[in-house]
Amino acid sequence: MAKVLIIGAGGVGQVVTHKCAQASEVFSEIVLASRTEEKCKKIAEQINYPIKTAQVDADNVPELVALINREQPQLVINVALPYQDLTIMDACLETGVHYLDTANYEPLDTAKFEYKWQWAYQDKFKQAGLMALLGSGFDPGATNMFTAYLAKHYFDEIHYLDIIDVNGGDHGYPFATNFNPEINIREVTAECRHWENGAFITTPAMSLKHSFTCPDEVGTYNIYRMYHEELESLTKNFPSLKRAQFWMSFSENYLKHLEILGNVGMTRIDPVEYQGQQIVPIQFLKTLLPDPSTLGPRTKGKTCIGCLVRGIKDGKEKTCFLYNICDHQECYKEVFSQAISYTTGVPAMIGAKMMLENRWMMPGVWNIEQMDPDPFMDDMNRYGLPWKVIENPDFNLL
Ligand code: NDP
Repeated sequence: MAKVLIIGAGGVGQVVTHKCAQASEVFSEIVLASRTEEKCKKIAEQINYPIKTAQVDADNVPELVALINREQPQLVINVALPYQDLTIMDACLETGVHYLDTANYEPLDTAKFEYKWQWAYQDKFKQAGLMALLGSGFDPGATNMFTAYLAKHYFDEIHYLDIIDVNGGDHGYPFATNFNPEINIREVTAECRHWENGAFITTPAMSLKHSFTCPDEVGTYNIYRMYHEELESLTKNFPSLKRAQFWMSFSENYLKHLEILGNVGMTRIDPVEYQGQQIVPIQFLKTLLPDPSTLGPRTKGKTCIGCLVRGIKDGKEKTCFLYNICDHQECYKEVFSQAISYTTGVPAMIGAKMMLENRWMMPGVWNIEQMDPDPFMDDMNRYGLPWKVIENPDFNLL
């Protein structure tokens, strides 16, 4: 029985709060705090379990420390934005509380996607006897666990990894993002990097595409190679990997909008002067776009996210695809949210549960694939994200 503090009341925060309430035998007390407390209250009203709410500016360490000291949680689940990772980690260290997040720290002025800032906290967390679990969403998160699970049970050595993230959902808007638009656009417009023979290779954004047919009749989609943060930790933690790539599906329509927004400067992340005021174009764009947490009722279709791994077992080459399929409307029925927030929020709750049940508790800063995947994979089946493995599938991305 433990008290948890969830920070961030967006699309993902909503799902995490619902899911923690579903596992109230572990999360006996739940506090939801965010910049706008009103949003926390709206989420609390959806749930038939007591949820305490609070206002906090997570960029401000003393405010966070005061909140944590007042509430005395055992663990903070950070589902605010990547900009707040370090301030929340600092506050956890100061108050002696464990930490979990779903996205690596990013400085506001550069879209970097690197773990170095958070890995630098390793000694501080170890010395304090505290655990920080990094990347416990879907990708990163479940995809890291899928890789670890395949490496543990299906291979002697893994050599090639392709993480494939297909969203076959349609929300009916000409252009909207499924999670925070600012973070999403920073990620998608970044240069592509993939791992090959011991080094990251940089190529222009969206310069390589494949057609991919998902299993279980989810459909055929164009997937584009892009950089994603789990490649950094997975290639470090699975040094036998000769190549690791990340692929995401985008519609022609999404890419065309993005290209035009980029061409006119609306995706810029640096401040510009407008009528005597400094504005950041991508932040202004975010205020115009649909809020991802409102897409739930209108998004139809399914996601299919999985890891295609090739390696060696008993001296022979083999390939496996481990994946989850998630239905947007089913998620909405359960927690009033679309599948992108759902697939992120469920693994965040499960990671927190693993820590609080002492299955994974280990002082220091860890990426999720450094933990035993088995109890996590069991809970994925139990809490709404069932998965399957296809051995030697008739597709590959060679
Ligand atoms: P949203 O923009 O919907 O929600 C973010 C929430 O954080 C909002 O409630 C926002 O408050 C709050 N917030 C922002 N800044 C602060 C601050 N300084 N202090 C307190 N609260 C703050 O984002 P999502 O829910 O879509 O995403 C949440 C996180 O999950 C992001 O870090 C994202 O990168 C990550 N993510 C991870 C995925 C994975 O698979 N690993 C996939 C999708 C998302 P306000 O409402 O006032 O703006």
